[in-house]
Amino acid sequence: MSEFSMTVGGERLAGSGSFEVVDPATGKPFASAPEAGREDLDRAMDAAASAFPAWRRDEAGRRAALRGAASRLREALPDLAPLLTREQGKPLARAREEIVGCIAWFEYAAAQEIPVEVLRDDAEARIEVRHPPMGVVAAITPWNYPLLLAVWKVAPALRAGNTVVLKPSPFTPLTTLALGDLLRNVFPPGVLNVVSGGDELGAWMTSHPVPRKISFTGSVATGVRVAGSAARDLKRLTLELGGNDAAIVLPDAEPGRVARDLFGGAFANSGQVCSAIKRLFVHESRYDEMVEALAGLARGVRMGPGLEPDVELGPVNNLPQLERVEALVEDARAAGARIVCGGRRREGEGYFYEPTIVADAACGMRLVDEEQFGPALPVLRYRDPEEALARANDTPFGLSGSVWSADPDRAAELAGRLECGTAWVNQHLVILPFTPFGGHKHSGVGVENGLPGLLGFTESQTLHIRKA
Ligand code: NAD
Repeated sequence: MSEFSMTVGGERLAGSGSFEVVDPATGKPFASAPEAGREDLDRAMDAAASAFPAWRRDEAGRRAALRGAASRLREALPDLAPLLTREQGKPLARAREEIVGCIAWFEYAAAQEIPVEVLRDDAEARIEVRHPPMGVVAAITPWNYPLLLAVWKVAPALRAGNTVVLKPSPFTPLTTLALGDLLRNVFPPGVLNVVSGGDELGAWMTSHPVPRKISFTGSVATGVRVAGSAARDLKRLTLELGGNDAAIVLPDAEPGRVARDLFGGAFANSGQVCSAIKRLFVHESRYDEMVEALAGLARGVRMGPGLEPDVELGPVNNLPQLERVEALVEDARAAGARIVCGGRRREGEGYFYEPTIVADAACGMRLVDEEQFGPALPVLRYRDPEEALARANDTPFGLSGSVWSADPDRAAELAGRLECGTAWVNQHLVILPFTPFGGHKHSGVGVENGLPGLLGFTESQTLHIRKA
């Protein structure tokens, strides 16, 4: 039996089995989570469908409950943060930041307005465009930011008047289950349901007849399966998928000034961020200087179990991901790239991989062409910024990217031609509740956050009122 329970129809639910959750800092199981069977999922979907009619009508109640969710999270932060560190691996300070982000997202959603656009209003007629909710939303999340990415879905979905069935990744189910527990009395029964289980539970959700919308964050390969499943009954979709972000450093950017921010953009959360810098393009005139600056930072970073004080980088979250990063670095080494630092696991327990700077990296190497999603950064040399831009765009991914320069206007001109959903100048990884975020090309469908993110949880209804 697990000490964690699912939340279905406002009640605790134990599920039909359980599975172990591993602490990536030790590589050993430290807790177990309930495993939902098909009947458990049916109960969650039925509860969400039953709660929908009253919830969609109670606009004031929705705002108040979202504010209530923010304050429950604020109270729970000291207990929740260490649990997030244990299951995900990130340093405790970063786990706290993730929960602070969740609070900000709930508060933002509580304050958001759902617009009514008036197209005509005269003596004869009034025509408005409204945004009613869709019904039940199936929300599916990955393991890198388990709580924040859940709240990116739950807060706007509920604000718009939908009800939700939420499923976390099997690698990091615990804080999401705890969230369901914490909010059990904040939302009316059935409004927010949390179920846990393996990947097949996600597939059951996307093929289930009840949800009208799937909001999914995860890999491109799974996103394609989700889209196929949703197509059968034309469920609405938002897909936030993988990225292979390029950062282009122009020759006028001083390595000494920008290296630290570039390092942070690549190695935050040990590189396990969808929109981390995954390919770094540096002009040949500053190439060696930049590689050395980055390697110096990598060598000096404090890596260790996230619960230890002053740790800056935690482990990779899970063994398959660690093996993947290792394989991509080995492939680059074999293809002639230079491993300037790192390039190996840390000895001892846990899934630690040393922060790795790979110089002389080139297109055609898997580390460059694929999404590594871990602490290894390929640095590519270029001659002409236009050539760097063409190489940056030569990928099926299109999540985000950045350009770095002493001249922000020049950088912005180039950044505007990056084929991606978010482009930054002299920064990377800045995502705020009001800034729409989503991917071009294979990196996704639709956006989250801001007004477009909220409207993604609504239908459009044009209302014609004849007055005379
Ligand atoms: P994943 O695709 O393996 O799993 C994501 C979720 O989907 C998990 O909850 C999993 O159980 C579930 N799932 C698996 N198979 C399913 C199926 N057939 N149907 C429905 N659900 C299914 O991804 P991951 O390894 O957990 O996460 C890493 C990936 O997520 C990376 O590619 C990363 O870039 C991406 N990501 C994207 C964003 C974004 O906002 N664009 C944010 C974070 C992570």
